[in-house]
Order: sequence, then structure tokens, then C-alpha cells
Amino acid sequence: MRTMRAAVLRDFSLGIQLEDMAIPEPKPNQVLVRILASGICHTDLHAINGSWDRKPILPLIPGHEGVGVIEALGSKVTGFTLDQKVLIPWIGRTCRTCSFCFNGIENYCEKQFNTGYIIPGTHAEYTAADFRYIVPLANDIDPIQTAPLACAGLTAFETIKQLRSNENQTLLIMGVGGVGHLAIQYAKEFFTRIIAIDPSAIRIEQAKLLGAETYSPEEWLSLNSKPLIDAAAVFAADPRAVTDSINALKNGGTLALVGLGKHKELSLPWFELVTRGIRILGSHVGPISTLKEVVEYHHLGKAKVLVESRPLADIHLAMADLAAGINNSPRLVLVP
Ligand SMILES: [Zn+2]
Ligand SMILES: [Zn+2]
Repeated sequence: MRTMRAAVLRDFSLGIQLEDMAIPEPKPNQVLVRILASGICHTDLHAINGSWDRKPILPLIPGHEGVGVIEALGSKVTGFTLDQKVLIPWIGRTCRTCSFCFNGIENYCEKQFNTGYIIPGTHAEYTAADFRYIVPLANDIDPIQTAPLACAGLTAFETIKQLRSNENQTLLIMGVGGVGHLAIQYAKEFFTRIIAIDPSAIRIEQAKLLGAETYSPEEWLSLNSKPLIDAAAVFAADPRAVTDSINALKNGGTLALVGLGKHKELSLPWFELVTRGIRILGSHVGPISTLKEVVEYHHLGKAKVLVESRPLADIHLAMADLAAGINNSPRLVLVP
């Protein structure tokens, strides 16, 4: 039996453990992928801690930002070849029959099998992935640069697509992490002024270098005259970022809720939302069609991920750094 190294969660009280286990056999619709890079997302922390009502299925190999090379093809796979590089995303498989799947917004399918949460993920040397939900990559891509596009890039790109309009507008970004720092780059095409707010001095510096006007939450609140905001995207997992965004939006402005914290509910100013005509939308990652756009966008060199790599063996340290927010680059990628 051929074995692989994988990060496995068997019990929430035990946390992640590195184990040797059998390399999966690809099912008819799957390809076997040798992982080259696997990005870490905050969702991995929520999976390991079991912090959401909808728990992951255990035992679990987390990870849903995988870049790898196809080593075997299932009997029904078409359009992919051996040795081809591919990107493996959060939406691992959906029902393929509902109206969401039918209309190309499978990220809202009620029966979705999420990679690294419901089905085995990419923090391992190998994984098996459904060929209908992976994206082919050019051979010259950098795996470490490309892995974070599967979730962080896609989430940021889809959010900007939802918020952009043709007018010259001001965008407020709450949270300059893995998703937020990419949103700043994607937003430049559509917004004339991008304001980014984050409590971390490192993230503020990074956002500034990317061309955003930056503030700490305290600096922002103490501004005497604030600019009028047309659209706001909350990537931070802090309810105060939602309140501050609503207060900053001009009447008729739009708020996109993207980041998910441990909080189950938000308290919202009912009267204000109604009388000021504030629109609120939720945005959950994005469909595979948008992921293909993101991959192309980066392949053309139009945006860059601020990322650093760690060996898979150091997953505990990487997760701890992410949880404490002390990683220098906003995105961390594991290399098996
Ligand atoms: Zn993610
Ligand atoms: Zn569906």
C-alpha cells in the first residue's frame, strides 16, 4: 500500500495530527492530485475548533486551497491529463440539479460538499478531487502564489464583482488579511478611492504599499470629517467592523458581509438601515466560473498574493500564528 503524510483531525479535543495513511483511490469522477502547495484559511481554524454550528465531518483532512499535479485519472474524467497542474477549491462537489447549480452559482447550492470540511482536503501529500470543480493551471504557475486564489482570491474577486459599479466610487475595506489585501488589488480597476482599516500595524503597512488609504479602527473613529463611502466590504470577523461600516456608508450605500467569526448573530440598527436605504449582501466564496477569471487575472500579473510558505510538518505552528495574527504575510501556504 502506498502511503502519504496528511494532517488529520480525528477529535476536536485532540486537534490536528500528522499521520501516514493510504493514498486515496480516485473514484470515476475524480483525479488523484499530488499536492504542491496548500493555503491555510481561517476556515481551517474554525474546522479544527468545531466553532460553527455546522460541524465538519471527522476524521477530516483540512485545507481547501490546493495546487497540485494530476497523477491518476478516474474512468469518467474528461478534459484533464496526467501531469497537468490544477487548483482545488472549497466547493468540492455540489448536487448539479438545483437552480443554483444550473445557473452557475453552485456556491449557493444547498447540497455542497466542501473540501477540507465535509470531504478530505489538501493539507496532505495527495488528495482526490472531482474534476468538474477543479481549475486547470498553466505549467509555469508558481504553486505558492496560486494556492491562495482558490479561496482568498476567489472570495475577494467575487466580493468586488458584487460591489463594483461604473461610477467613480469610494470603497471601504474592513480587514486586510488574506482576502482583504487581494480585494484592494482587484478593487483598483473599479474604485477611485480605497480605504482600508485594520488593527494590525503590519497589515496597515501592507495595505498602504498596495495603494490603499489606511487607518487603524481608532484613527478612523476619531476622524472629524469622514469621507462618504459608497460600498463597504467586511472581511474582518469582528462585529464592530460591521457597525463601523454601516455608520460610514452614505445613504443608499451597499455593505457586503464576507468574513465569518464565531458570533452567530449580528445586532443591526433597524431604523437606520431602513431610513438610510442601506443594502446588505452576503457573499460566500464564488462559483468556479469566477475562479477561472481570478486564475487568469493573476497569470497576467495583474495582482500578487502576499504569501509565505511553511513545511506541512509545521502545520501546528502555522495554525497558531494565524490564530494569533502574528504571521508577517497575510496568507500562509503549506508545502508537503
Ligand atoms: Zn477559505
Ligand atoms: Zn445544487
